[in-house]
Amino acid sequence: MSLFTSPLAEEIAPDLLERFQRYVRVDTQSRRDGEGSPSTPGQLDLSRMLVDELKAAGLADAQLDDKGYVMATLPATDGATAVVGLLAHVDTSPDAPGAGVEPIVHRAYAGGTIELPRNGTVLDPAKMPELAGKEGHDIVTSSGDTLLGADDKAGVAEIMAAVAHLAAHPELPRPTLRIGFTPDEEIGRGALGFDVERFGAVCAYTMDGSTVGELQDETFTGVEAIITIHGIDVHPGFATGKLVNAARLAGRLLAALPPDLSPEATSGRQGFIHPYEVSATTGQAVIRAIVRDFDEDLLQSHIALLRTTAEEVVGSEPRARLEVDVRRQYPNMRSHLAPFPEVVEAAERAIRSEGIEPLRTPIRGGTDGSLLSSMGLPTPNVFTGGHEYHSVREWASVQDMAAAAATIVRLAEVWSQR
Ligand SMILES: [Zn+2]
Repeated sequence: MSLFTSPLAEEIAPDLLERFQRYVRVDTQSRRDGEGSPSTPGQLDLSRMLVDELKAAGLADAQLDDKGYVMATLPATDGATAVVGLLAHVDTSPDAPGAGVEPIVHRAYAGGTIELPRNGTVLDPAKMPELAGKEGHDIVTSSGDTLLGADDKAGVAEIMAAVAHLAAHPELPRPTLRIGFTPDEEIGRGALGFDVERFGAVCAYTMDGSTVGELQDETFTGVEAIITIHGIDVHPGFATGKLVNAARLAGRLLAALPPDLSPEATSGRQGFIHPYEVSATTGQAVIRAIVRDFDEDLLQSHIALLRTTAEEVVGSEPRARLEVDVRRQYPNMRSHLAPFPEVVEAAERAIRSEGIEPLRTPIRGGTDGSLLSSMGLPTPNVFTGGHEYHSVREWASVQDMAAAAATIVRLAEVWSQR
């Protein structure tokens, strides 16, 4: 029995897998402190490869711009007027080693643990319920000492394989498809240099989700808070009655934050306050925290809580000084997608026609689509079939990636009728 969702998925799978294995070998890790766009030159290596492959598939206008964005067009078949975008990001996460990826295909997974050859890395279905359900699938992993890069090269390979399939089959109905590959999504800059006007699509889909069937039109609203505490630094031998220790105040502030409002204690639709980086000396302490919620009012109350806690703790020492700088990172895409229900509906139809039940889950994070939707390009997120992102245990099912590629072909058909 085939575990592919359709003969179409099975037909696309070999080309998809071949592309995926080629793309993950390119080191495209982005860097938070990297200057310019893209933040690392390796991303351009993959982007150039994609431009060449798009041209080879017949997308003659494929082009890499000076900020590292790839755009290309697959013209519509007769009569279709819509212009629809397909997006994926070429960079991989800075949070796990990303150079020297050597993918391994575990054919017809028999169940049980998968032991990778390096670093003693083990994929244990007892800890990974998603993997437990994939018996019989072909599972792709890294060699254990790097991430795999399915986030988001699964999405890149799915778009490339689907577009190549459509280009080779002009009898399949499709709208004008605009293809976009973006840099630096993992460091929150993916949408910043994206030229929505030049892209020229009425809507787009990021192929950047996970579990098969996922269709996401709701993300956190993301805010970063930078809290700076100024103390008074005096030689400890002469400090009596003079020294004000900013490091101690930072510690008290962290301890005063409610533990139940943390990422580790929340799930589903609950938001959180997450201090993720602290640097402190006697004279100055800086706490960087992210604040998240789906609901704007709740988000504002989390920010207010963080601010008043900081004011109370630091205010207990009148000679200390406090600065709180709150920066918006990305908005919940939902309010920007709501006026265009046909965008999500089309994806639901496409997923169903691939024989999959759509899974509507909110994203506890942001995607390129969060900002793009607010920039006027309604962009929900679609599954890719990859799991355990940003870790050396990252894996992807060939059958599920093929289902995503086939869903793109179905999506083209849905939009050809509009
Ligand atoms: Zn991603």
